[in-house]
Amino acid sequence: MSRLKESNLKRQERRSRAMALGDLARHGVGVFCWCNRCAHQARVPIEPLIAELGAGFAVPELGARMRCSGCGSKDVATRPDWPSLGRVARHGAEEEPGGAPA
Ligand SMILES: [Zn+2]
Repeated sequence: MSRLKESNLKRQERRSRAMALGDLARHGVGVFCWCNRCAHQARVPIEPLIAELGAGFAVPELGARMRCSGCGSKDVATRPDWPSLGRVARHGAEEEPGGAPA
C-alpha cells in the first residue's frame, strides 16, 4: 500500500499551504516574478518549472530559485500570475499624485 506516500503528501500539503506549481497549471496561470532590487518583473510559463521542480513545488519558494535577468540579484519575489489580480496590483503601483485627466 502507499501509506508512506500518503503521509508524505499530507506533510507537504501542510508545509506549503501556498499555491503549488500544479495548482497554477490547472488554472492555466503562470508565475509572476518581481526583483526586489531593481524592480524588474517577468512572467514565467509554468510548464518548464514543473518539468524541473515538480507539480508539488510551492510558488513562494520559487523566489529562492530565481535570479533576476536584469541585475542578477537573487532577491526575487514570486506569486501566481492571476490575470485580474495583476491588473489591480499594477493599477495601485502606477498611481500618480495629482494626475487627474482633463
Ligand atoms: Zn533585478
